[in-house]
Amino acid sequence: MNTKIASQLERVLPRVDSPARYLGGEANSVHKDPELVEASIVLVFPDTYEIGMSNNGMKVLYHVVNQVPQLLAETAFAPWTDMGDLMKAEGIPLYSHQSYKPVREFDMIGITLQSELNFSNVPYVLDLAGVPVWSRDRSESDPFVIGGGPSMSNPEPIADFFDLFCIGDGEKLVPLILEMTAGLKKANTSRSQILKSLSAVEGVYVPALVDVIPDEKGMPVPAQPAKGSYLKYSGVKRTWIPFMDPADYPIQNLIPNTPPVHSRFAVEVMRGCTNGCRFCQAGYWYRPNRELNVDAVIDIAKKGLKATGERQLGLLSLSSADYVPIEKVTDIIMDQPEFANVDTSLPSLRANSFGQSLAIKAAAIKGGRSATFAPETGSERLRKMINKTISDQDMLDAAEGVFKAGFNKIKLYTMVGLPTENMEDMEAFCGLIEALVQVARKYGGRKQIHADIGIFIPKAWTPMQWSSFMDRETTMSHIRFVRERFYHNQFVRISWQDWELSHLEAFYSSGGRNLAPMILEASRRGLVFESFREKFSYEGWQKVWSDFNYNPDWVHDEKSKEQVFPWEFMHIGVTRGYLWTEYQKMFDPQSEPVPDCKYGDCQHCGIPGNGEDTQLSTPNTKYDAPSRTPKEIKAKHAALIQEDRDVYHYRFSYAKTGLSRYLPHRNTLDIFERALMRIGVNLNYSRGFSPKPKIHNAGALPLGLQSLCEMISIETREPLNLNEKSTLIREINQIFPHGVRVLDISLQKKSDLPRPLAIEFQLEKGYDAATIFKRYCDEGPQTLVDHKGRTISCKDEIVDLKVIDNKIAFTARTNTTGNAVSPFILIAGILGITENESRQLSLVKTKLHLELEPVNG
Ligand code: SF4
Repeated sequence: MNTKIASQLERVLPRVDSPARYLGGEANSVHKDPELVEASIVLVFPDTYEIGMSNNGMKVLYHVVNQVPQLLAETAFAPWTDMGDLMKAEGIPLYSHQSYKPVREFDMIGITLQSELNFSNVPYVLDLAGVPVWSRDRSESDPFVIGGGPSMSNPEPIADFFDLFCIGDGEKLVPLILEMTAGLKKANTSRSQILKSLSAVEGVYVPALVDVIPDEKGMPVPAQPAKGSYLKYSGVKRTWIPFMDPADYPIQNLIPNTPPVHSRFAVEVMRGCTNGCRFCQAGYWYRPNRELNVDAVIDIAKKGLKATGERQLGLLSLSSADYVPIEKVTDIIMDQPEFANVDTSLPSLRANSFGQSLAIKAAAIKGGRSATFAPETGSERLRKMINKTISDQDMLDAAEGVFKAGFNKIKLYTMVGLPTENMEDMEAFCGLIEALVQVARKYGGRKQIHADIGIFIPKAWTPMQWSSFMDRETTMSHIRFVRERFYHNQFVRISWQDWELSHLEAFYSSGGRNLAPMILEASRRGLVFESFREKFSYEGWQKVWSDFNYNPDWVHDEKSKEQVFPWEFMHIGVTRGYLWTEYQKMFDPQSEPVPDCKYGDCQHCGIPGNGEDTQLSTPNTKYDAPSRTPKEIKAKHAALIQEDRDVYHYRFSYAKTGLSRYLPHRNTLDIFERALMRIGVNLNYSRGFSPKPKIHNAGALPLGLQSLCEMISIETREPLNLNEKSTLIREINQIFPHGVRVLDISLQKKSDLPRPLAIEFQLEKGYDAATIFKRYCDEGPQTLVDHKGRTISCKDEIVDLKVIDNKIAFTARTNTTGNAVSPFILIAGILGITENESRQLSLVKTKLHLELEPVNG
């Protein structure tokens, strides 16, 4: 561990929001002997910790690299700007969360780009890392900067910041790149020669080796765009794994120190979606369709839930309702005891009878859910154009099904700004919502239709890449039309995307290499974390465009057939000819809908295989379960969770020291739950729709306060082996984050925790204890006003003050609930400083006085 960075963090964390984001030392972290590591990569997520820790791609890469003994992957995240500013001011470089090592000391920095709105965060994290932003400025001693993720469909706007990109599936590619680099470095190969060697690997793109030329409008496009069939093409190619390999699925995921945006264990049940929606980039980018086998889904879910202690399971894919055995998987999950207290999130549903059947099963276990459908637009004419094959009647039938099953909300994903969209289409949009409201009202209660309106953005590698981005006035008139219709309707909620943010996204999505200087300038002007409303500044971008004398209006142009796009330096499998034909069919009212090719009707899109490429799940052999009625499901679920067994009450005493003092209280409880589940302790859960483990703490420890005497009560369904107490404690402590450790465990008659009568605290360092003690004896403590405006008389609250080993120690009285006034206020009163200043101090809760005893004895 790099102790310098760890101690620098001690100084800055009291001054930032959400310090738990920056703690590092997550449970389940992998540590390797540096002597045995031949190549290392730090996976830098260019967005907040909470988003990065939810990202499945990061988890997969962390796993596939670390499962190779001689390779090492660690993680890092973009610090929010308050922390970023402090890091710059204090000279703290961007560091990895496992060893606190500066990211510039790794062999490679891997930046995964989930969205174009992270583009300006690339120079932001490179600046913080102390790595030259432009690839051309990097020397032999600098790490290689690698990009990957969904935004690789057009990496050109940020190409000059990267040494290479991984185009396509990373499971096999990233470990291969690391192994090759290790071998080449051992042979003293130069940086430029390593890049040249790597560029020969399928899926690797080295921008410096691909020439671009300006087109007639000045847009940089490849000098030699990809042509012909995928197999014959010898330039840069997207790569993909032919089938979903269970060995590549992460199980032992890092456990976040603060709640992530999605707290769940996810199993990617399927990659690819071949519904053929013409606007959808993922539908073309992730071809072909590959399903994971049912038995593997269940095996991975069981192991992953145990290894992470998660109680939420996500069945992940672009469209999980199109995973052929989704109903079988759902039946098995409802049948197996390991899932009894697990909340399985069902995918966005399909507006057909199959979707309803799934919905009804889900509703049998969980009440009050919201069902999500993606009709994209309310107009059947536009739906046909974009090849969204559901009808209005399908939507109404689906609404009947889900409201009847007990759902109380339907969420609709929709968009405006599609080519040829007009007011008749918007009238049809409103008509569909009104018809859905009529269905909702039949079932009474507080039912709601929530339409979320996005704005169409033409994306690379789709048939609609030739389309234009709609101007502001027309787009907003369409959104306004819908909003005004439902303004006073209590059954309908309308939310919509900002046109300005979509405009920026359109600029990024279809841009070329000439955008990079503007992105760098924007980043350095603070235009980072652009997906956050409070950070996005359209005015800021208008100023950048004006300063660069740049006009971004080209996004409103419809493109000609001959237009070469910046992203056509690569072949992704699907051919340009197929995409153009699909684009033409949009405007032909006689054209037939394109079927989903995964069921055998290959459309010859260009992916090699002509249908053989699709990998459907093989039949389940290890696990099975009958398809039950809602009544049977309820009975089965009740039997699984209400077994009448004994309950055991344990009291754990534990310490929380070092950086772990910035772990929020609810995360501390979460850490106990996960750790005990991981070592196989059968916890006792509450009853009801959302079972919770019965874990109680005596009271929240203030953020930033260390403690040597915390208590927690935990109920279990089976006795713990306290004859082997020290082994049990060691086992738990091994999987806790740094600084949290169990000190003792005892069996109790009930779960109540004793109420302390007084609490002792000690100030670790930084003050002359003898002088303070004398002044306190002479003058007494101050009266202070706390941050809530309450007047605190420290004299009344402090019952003893003494000096132990030249450290100030004081004892505070407690109230009827066993809690004391914040010790940061009290020490402020003792030292004559403000509460804010006292929060920078290293203060430790050292002892609970549980009995009446002389506190100064
Ligand atoms: S090759 Fe055929 S089956 Fe494969 S993705 Fe393309 S259209 Fe679908």
